Amino acid sequence: MESYEQLLDKAYSQVKVVEGSSERCEIPKVEGNVTGNNTFITNFAQIADCLRRDPQHLAKFLQKELAVSGRVDGGRLILKTKLNSSKVNEKIEKYSHEFVICPVCGKPDTEVISEKGIKYKHCLACGAKSPIKYHL
Ligand SMILES: [Zn+2]
Repeated sequence: MESYEQLLDKAYSQVKVVEGSSERCEIPKVEGNVTGNNTFITNFAQIADCLRRDPQHLAKFLQKELAVSGRVDGGRLILKTKLNSSKVNEKIEKYSHEFVICPVCGKPDTEVISEKGIKYKHCLACGAKSPIKYHL
């Protein structure tokens, strides 16, 4: 029979496998332009990809947070108002805290899982399961 320490070692080494994979996610700053009364975020697909979340979900979040309507068009997000990019960056940062970053270890290697109607961030780096409080 394995000792507690051995089991702990084993669990730790299993967790360690995915370590290092978190370094790749440096959220890109929004790139885009304002034309008329619309704001075009041209690197939107890239941002969603980095966060490893559905672009439609991120778009929905931004629309709610910024109180504006919009749509995903190819890899772009079009928001029907004039927006300052720093405002959008701030909201994307908020999204990553609500839906991506593990509150236990601070890494972005999470997946969203749903159990009994409650959504959780399941961390692939440390194994923590944290309920998502934000309702979208
Ligand atoms: Zn974690």
